Amino acid sequence: MISVILPVYNEEEGLQTFVKSLIIELQKTKEVFELIFVNDGSKDKSLQVIKHICTECSNYKYIDLSRNFGHQIAVSAGIDYATGDKVVLIDSDGQDPPEVIHEMLLKLREGFDVAYAQRAKREDESVLKKLTATFFYKLLNRITSIEIPVDTGDFRIMNRKVINALKRMPEKQRYLRGQIAWLGFKQTPVIYERKGRETGETGYTYRKMIHLALDAITSFSNWPLRVATISGFAFAIIGFFLILYTLYARFVLNDYQPGWPSLMITIVFLGGIQLLGIGMIGEYISRINENVKNRPLYLIGESNIEEDA
Ligand code: UDP
Ligand code: MG
Repeated sequence: MISVILPVYNEEEGLQTFVKSLIIELQKTKEVFELIFVNDGSKDKSLQVIKHICTECSNYKYIDLSRNFGHQIAVSAGIDYATGDKVVLIDSDGQDPPEVIHEMLLKLREGFDVAYAQRAKREDESVLKKLTATFFYKLLNRITSIEIPVDTGDFRIMNRKVINALKRMPEKQRYLRGQIAWLGFKQTPVIYERKGRETGETGYTYRKMIHLALDAITSFSNWPLRVATISGFAFAIIGFFLILYTLYARFVLNDYQPGWPSLMITIVFLGGIQLLGIGMIGEYISRINENVKNRPLYLIGESNIEEDA
């Protein structure tokens, strides 16, 4: 069975039509499927629309979150309730074309564990969003040690192995596409063209996007903390030479303003030491952070050892 997870936030207008086209595409795959709607505290009539859709079939289920928790957590909730041996994550605003699911499913049948949809081009998105997205993915790939695919959202299909592994990552800051990339296993892209939104408006405000970006960076990189350590070292070294020069200027050249040597030495020396200190604290915090995340130490792709329950 395929479990399809649909996070919904203020999608009353387009939801019904989108779900219809989704169901048609799912039926084409000839697989049994369930739909799991996660209403993420919508302020409009989305919940009524969802409830209405769910009366049609006992395999259409919904979870109504108590408030707006954000897209990543809504999807995570859906994953917790999915019972299928394959799980599809798809936006409910119609921007992820359901036709691609079939192609992704074929990849899974070929033996891949994850098939993620990769955008060929972005339509209908503001220049600012495109620019910030490009910059963000570049930065993220630079500073993280894992390869997080560019131009990829959460639209993807995964098998049970990946879902169970994902469930072993109990971290509160969710960045699913990064977490799934971190898991490893056999992953493959499926190229598609992402459409613009037809109805409603994006629930991803710039505020939410910045949050997501910060979660992504702090979950997968200690680089920002390391900046303090490295610059601390750099300043300490520069400071050391400056101290030598001030002493030289004071005692040998005798070319100085009164008070200048002591002032320079204090500022430069303390500056370097402080940054270094912050950096060292940062190094410890990053290690605490690593442990608090409670991620599994490793995951097994395949083995001939029987796993008991
Ligand atoms: N969404 C959600 N909670 C939110 C924001 C969005 O569940 O706080 C859902 C939304 O209904 C849609 C998906 O997440 O199905 C993607 O959101 P959106 O289309 O607003 O993002 P964009 O496509 O603009 O990146
Ligand atoms: Mg969208």
